[in-house]
Amino acid sequence: MQNLPELKTGRPRIEQGFLRPIPEIEIPFGLVEGAKPGPCLIVTAGVHASEYCSIEAAVRLMHTDPQKLCGTLLVLPILNVTGFRARSIYVMPEDGNNLNRMFPGQPDGSAGQRLAHWLVTEVFPKADAYLDLHGGDMSESLTPFTIYPGGHAPSEALAAAFGLPISVGSQSKSNTISAAGALGIPSVLVEIGCNGLWDEASVTAMMDGIGRIMHHMHMTEGATNPVIAPRLMTMSVPLAPVSGLWYSAKRLSDPIAIGDRLGEIRDVFGTVLATIVAEKPGEVLYQLTTLAVNAGEALVGIGIPVETTS
Ligand SMILES: [Zn+2]
Repeated sequence: MQNLPELKTGRPRIEQGFLRPIPEIEIPFGLVEGAKPGPCLIVTAGVHASEYCSIEAAVRLMHTDPQKLCGTLLVLPILNVTGFRARSIYVMPEDGNNLNRMFPGQPDGSAGQRLAHWLVTEVFPKADAYLDLHGGDMSESLTPFTIYPGGHAPSEALAAAFGLPISVGSQSKSNTISAAGALGIPSVLVEIGCNGLWDEASVTAMMDGIGRIMHHMHMTEGATNPVIAPRLMTMSVPLAPVSGLWYSAKRLSDPIAIGDRLGEIRDVFGTVLATIVAEKPGEVLYQLTTLAVNAGEALVGIGIPVETTS
């Protein structure tokens, strides 16, 4: 099946199967149409194929009870399905590119560009809201936060409804949520979980946030946890200037001042090749945890409170 199933038939149901968005791959989908009419929430995971907490949450979400749902939930739990089988970090094996840098895609480009184009033209327009689930890849630790397309107020409000304490306004023009936000769809990227692990606490935190989103959209009834307004941030991400061995000097959530030493890259004999110094103040939201580092890779994500940037 290349096309999506009908999202609104008036018949409560769970439908599962596979789609072929591009000739190279088949991806799984789960559709839950609720017993009552309502909006359509689209949830993707596995853009980064080894961020397992997000994938497991999406897998569980496909079993939502239609009788307790108003509207339609469409879940694409593993977009980079070849990468999932290969336990790939960051990239799609078909083209070696990071799918979350390929949006809005191209109809005649690489596999990732064509998959992105399919999402932008065939999937996102059907959403009343869109969640893209991520987390710390096998090479990253992080403290939970949401990301929304910076300047898009409906997305900022949706991120607040997810209920994590920090929300980052992204300036990217090439990721999932920027492409969906450009279509006017409230869109949020969620980061929960570290190092590819999918412990129960992290998966539950992801599910709880999705539950708050569905409640916010009037897709479910009943009480949810109270939401505290998140601290709004932008992000500074120093990249590795050289390849080598990465020695971080900071821990998650550490406060960062301008000039702080974030870590250094050494060669295998211990010679310091580069010292990474903070150029912006903030706090550590994520960082690379592998000893191996390649030039151009992200070393640390520093969240910068919005009030200090204005
Ligand atoms: Zn990711």
